[in-house]
Amino acid sequence: MYNKILIRYGELTLKGNNRKDFVNKLKNNLLMWIRKEELKVEYDRMFINFSTKNLDILQNIFGIFSYSPVLECESNLDSIKKSIKNLLNEIDLNKFKTFAINSRRNDKTFSLTSHELNIEIGNFVSEILPNFQVKLNNPDLEINIEVRKENTYIFYENIYGLGGMPLESAGKTLHLMSGGIDSPVAANLLQKRGLKIVFLNFITPPHTDKLTEQKIDDLINVLTKYQGETILYQINYTKIMNLLNLISDQKYKITLMRRSFYRIATLIAKKENIKILSTGESLGQVASQTLESLCTISNATDLEIFRPLICFDKIDTIKLAQKIKTYDISIKKACETCELFAPKEPITKPHLFKVIELEKELPNLFSLEKETCEGNLKIKKYKN
Ligand code: ATP
Ligand code: MG
Repeated sequence: MYNKILIRYGELTLKGNNRKDFVNKLKNNLLMWIRKEELKVEYDRMFINFSTKNLDILQNIFGIFSYSPVLECESNLDSIKKSIKNLLNEIDLNKFKTFAINSRRNDKTFSLTSHELNIEIGNFVSEILPNFQVKLNNPDLEINIEVRKENTYIFYENIYGLGGMPLESAGKTLHLMSGGIDSPVAANLLQKRGLKIVFLNFITPPHTDKLTEQKIDDLINVLTKYQGETILYQINYTKIMNLLNLISDQKYKITLMRRSFYRIATLIAKKENIKILSTGESLGQVASQTLESLCTISNATDLEIFRPLICFDKIDTIKLAQKIKTYDISIKKACETCELFAPKEPITKPHLFKVIELEKELPNLFSLEKETCEGNLKIKKYKN
């Protein structure tokens, strides 16, 4: 019965060029999944052809506040009444006893005001459904009529979208991605604020295996649903890990490894013209995520680091992971680079001067990192 889907975008505070960019980005994002002929863009609305496939697609697109399957008809009273009748024929009316008409007149040249249209269509519906009561406040069934210049749209359902900002409206981030619970959730929160994610993952074969890599693939495939296409830089980190094993104070190994992750990430980000790094780190969760640790690690890069989970309780992260369907993948058992490498008692409050001394014990560390970026780098592409 429906012929279109009406899309509303949020972020009402957007103005001027920001608004134009926002709408353009959203449009381009939709075009990754929907053909050009199916899409119509207006100042405050977009319309796409109705199909259940298109309804599903909208579930994963950031920047959409809500949407409704609608009947599109001509902007005149006869056509509107005909469509209202069609709509009532399709709705299961048994669950409803009261109704209201809610008209919104976007086209001020239309012959009736919103109020007059409410009354006219209200009377029309009362004739078709004599047992129904009009109830303006909180009715069982609210029939919406949106009169616009070219067409009028009739609907009763309102489905909430993901909200947030359209993908890439804020640019790109290079995201340090593990197979754990946190980093996929962090990636999705960044996507929600308009960042397109480029992933970076360190593996240490033969200590990590096919299963470790499969988990990363599966997680990225889930997150690719929100951005259509994705790139992963996967780095064979074994040589550097072996080198870090040689330092004189084993308690510092994880701190040194994380600094090394950040240095490599910085090299790749700069080469790819990406301005920020991001991680799934959260304050106080584990030894390597105390304030002192985070500061010591951050010192290894001059790029801004986004840590969207910094104030999250684990339980809240888990809830989000379940919602976006990464949780079941994350909890699968596989060998993770960090876990394999962790000393029995990692330092919880590392000192920067000590870290720098330890790095000096490994004079070829930085050059090996550079080499690794060039030689031991695999680039994988994902598409949705
Ligand atoms: P996660 O669940 O995201 O793995 P975590 O609580 O297990 O987080 P850590 O293992 O200490 O914490 O990792 C902290 C962050 O470091 C991760 O969120 C991720 O951003 C990054 N990270 C850890 N391991 C890797 C890896 N093998 N490759 C890339 N980044 C990693
Ligand atoms: Mg982890």
